Amino acid sequence: MSPEIVDIIVRQTNRKAGQMIKAWNEPSPTCKPKEWKPTDEMEMYAWFGLLLFPGVFHCNNMQAKDLWHSRHFDIYNATITVNNYLVWQAVRTLTSCLSKPFRDAYKGVRKALMGSDGGEEIWRYCVADTNNVIGFAVGAIFVRQAFHGESKPEAEHMINEIREAFKENLNNLTWMDKRTRERAIDKANAITDMIGFPDYILNPRELDKKYADLEIVPNEYFENNIQVAMYNLKTNLEKLDQPVNKTHWGMTPQMVNAYYTPTKNQIVFPAGILQSPFYDTNNPKSLNFGAMGVVMGHELTHAFDDQGREYDKFGNIHRWWDNKSIERFNEKAECIQRQYGSYKMNGRTLNGKQTLGK
Ligand SMILES: [Zn+2]
Repeated sequence: MSPEIVDIIVRQTNRKAGQMIKAWNEPSPTCKPKEWKPTDEMEMYAWFGLLLFPGVFHCNNMQAKDLWHSRHFDIYNATITVNNYLVWQAVRTLTSCLSKPFRDAYKGVRKALMGSDGGEEIWRYCVADTNNVIGFAVGAIFVRQAFHGESKPEAEHMINEIREAFKENLNNLTWMDKRTRERAIDKANAITDMIGFPDYILNPRELDKKYADLEIVPNEYFENNIQVAMYNLKTNLEKLDQPVNKTHWGMTPQMVNAYYTPTKNQIVFPAGILQSPFYDTNNPKSLNFGAMGVVMGHELTHAFDDQGREYDKFGNIHRWWDNKSIERFNEKAECIQRQYGSYKMNGRTLNGKQTLGK
């Protein structure tokens, strides 16, 4: 580590979760960003950083302001690359919470990095932020209005029928050896599913408990985003050293989407996608299978695609395939990759390898 940063001690030397949470919540006695009124733009950046990460940097007998003006954060001469990078990351994540000139300034970077400047409609910010931050509270309102009790057992039944069909098809694969096939059937049987929404959201007390540490204030958009960042950080740190929660939902109930998690060998269908035109308990079976069954089959197949196949039925990375079968799988995958990679759309060629799993 370069000598320039030695007297800033990064306190996360011990990965024990309890100690880490304590460190994050205990600001250094000398760094008090709330008592510091930044006077220029550069001080403002430092102030964000200290507000977001009060416990990370323990500054040796330095006031927050002095720390910033010391050579450790010399953003103009850019000698302290790591610190500049950390501060920039803090600033970057907050640009979308600032006024239009700041958002406009960031557009060029986003366009260069992702090929699109992301658009500007305010309603998208409102819907996306609310969904991201308190999505399960919104979800509780949504499922009470839109998700009917009988949807869940029927969807469960469909998944099982699709699983059976999938296993039957495994028998038709001439390129897969017997042992790998047996293990594939085992893995298909072990796939767990979550449908609709997590039960706790319909219990107001449990829902309140989930958001108890989150403080949201009307008309304080920027401050709210800081609060959210701290809340998310704390929630994530609390997971350290804990056993994996296999019933954690990666999507909110109202999302029109679905996913497969290889590390849990699990498929998830939120209530949002279990509605028309994908699914309706009043529809004939053929319509439901034609629209929603396709999605279920798609997610199930992810367990065996170019990435999912590397995980076993417990969700661990583990080579459970016979070498010969892997070779033949890769040959067939390459064929699809070549075919798909030759398609053009809007004058640009698709990337067959990147999209192989689809
Ligand atoms: Zn997919």
